[in-house]
Amino acid sequence: SFQNVSNEQVGEKSAAAFARAKEAMPGGVNSPVRAFRAVGGTPPFIARGNGAYLYDIDGRRYIDYLLSWGPLIAGHAHPLVVEAVTKQAQRGTSFGAPTEIETELAEEIKRAYPSMELVRMVNSGTEATMSALRLARGYTGRSRVVKFTGCYHGHADSFLIRAGSGVATFGLPDSPGVPSAMAELTLTVPYNDIDHLRMVFEQYGEEIAAVIIEPVAGNMGLVLPQGGFLQAVRELTRAYETVLIFDEVMTGFRVSYGGAQERFGIDPDLTTLGKVIGGGMPVGAYGGKREIMELVAPDGPIYQAGTLSGNPLAMAAGLATLKLLQTEGTYERLEAVAKRVSTGFVEAGMRAGFSVQAHAIGAMFGNFFAAEPIVDYESAKQANVQLYSAYFHEMLSRGIYFAPSQLEAGFVSLAHTDLQVDETLEAMDDVMQELR
Ligand code: PLP
Repeated sequence: SFQNVSNEQVGEKSAAAFARAKEAMPGGVNSPVRAFRAVGGTPPFIARGNGAYLYDIDGRRYIDYLLSWGPLIAGHAHPLVVEAVTKQAQRGTSFGAPTEIETELAEEIKRAYPSMELVRMVNSGTEATMSALRLARGYTGRSRVVKFTGCYHGHADSFLIRAGSGVATFGLPDSPGVPSAMAELTLTVPYNDIDHLRMVFEQYGEEIAAVIIEPVAGNMGLVLPQGGFLQAVRELTRAYETVLIFDEVMTGFRVSYGGAQERFGIDPDLTTLGKVIGGGMPVGAYGGKREIMELVAPDGPIYQAGTLSGNPLAMAAGLATLKLLQTEGTYERLEAVAKRVSTGFVEAGMRAGFSVQAHAIGAMFGNFFAAEPIVDYESAKQANVQLYSAYFHEMLSRGIYFAPSQLEAGFVSLAHTDLQVDETLEAMDDVMQELR
C-alpha cells in the first residue's frame, strides 16, 4: 500500500535548476548519489546551510542528517569554522610551499591517532586510499589487496570491484573502464566473515600486500563490526606480514575522537582520513607506521604528490572543527542524538507494523526496513528499497533530509538540538502511520 503514497515533488526552482544542470553535467551532478537515483525523484538544489538546517533554492528548510555525507560534524557554517577560513583566505588560498598550519593539523591527527606516526595530506578520501594502497604494495613488494564486499574506499580502479562467485575468487570490475587485469588483484570477502578471510589468506597470504577495511562500515548503511572481528583481522594480517589499512575517511573523528581504532583498541599499520578533518573543505590524509611512511617521496621511492595538498583553507577549516570536538562530553552527546534517531525509527516502524533494524555508534546511524539483522552487504541488500524510497520522500516533504538510499549512513552534528530530534521523531511516526 505504501506505493500509493505520492512522492511529493520538489519546488519549481529546484526542478528547473536540475533540468539546466543536466545539460551541463552528466546526470546534472558532480557525484552520482546526488541525483537521487536510488529513491527516484528530483533532488532539491541547495542555497545555504546553517547549523543543522539546510535551505533549498525554493526556500524550503530541512533538518539535515546527511551533512555533506559526513564532513560537517560541527553543522553548517559554524561561526568559528567560517572565521578560520575567512582569516586564512585573506592571507592567501594556496602557496604550493610548506606552511605551519599543515604541521598543526598533522600534529593533532598524530596526537589523536597514535598509530599514525607520519601523516601526508591529500585532497580527497579517494586520493588517501589509492595512495595508501600504492604504499602498501611498494612496502611489501606484493600486488594483491583484500577488501570487504559493500565497503567503499573511493573510486580508484583497485576498489571498484565486485566479488567473484565462490570462495577466494578474483574480483571483477564493478565499472567499465576498470581493467580486468587490475580487478583480478583485488580479492573480496564478506564483512564480518573471518573464516572466509582466513581461507583467502591460506590460499594467497604470501601475495597479499594489504587488507583495507572500514572498521565500522558506513557505505552499506551503517553496519557494525561483530565482537572480535577487527581483532581477528589484525591478528591474521600480522601473521602474514600484510599491511592493515583502516579506512577511517568516514569514521575518523566521528565514531570517537580517535576513530574506530581508539574505540575498538586496534593498532592498524596505515589509516586513511578525510571528511571531518577538512571541516567541509576538500581534504584527505593517509598515515601510519614510520617505517612504512618513510618510503613516501621525497624521503623514499614511492611517489605521491598534489598541487593543492595541505591546502591552507582546508587545514584551517579542519583545525577549527577538531577544536570544537575537544570539549568534554562531545561524543557522549553526539552518540545520544544518533541513538535517539535510530531508536525512534525502530519504535515508529514497529508501531506501524513494519520490520525495521537500526544501528548507531558515535555520530553515525543506519536505519533499515528489514526483518533480519544486518551484518554484511548481503543482508543489507535484503532491505526494502521501495519502502525506504516512499519513507524518504515523505520525510523530505516534512522537512527532514536523510540519505537518499538506506545503503548510506546517517549523520548527526553538534548543531542538532533535542527539539529538532523531537520534530524528526514525530515526523517519523506520522510517516510510518501513513505508509502502513
Ligand atoms: N573511504 C570511505 C570509507 C568513504 O566513505 C569515502 C567517501 O564516502 C571515501 C573513502 C572516498 O572519499 P572521497 O569521496 O572524499 O573521495
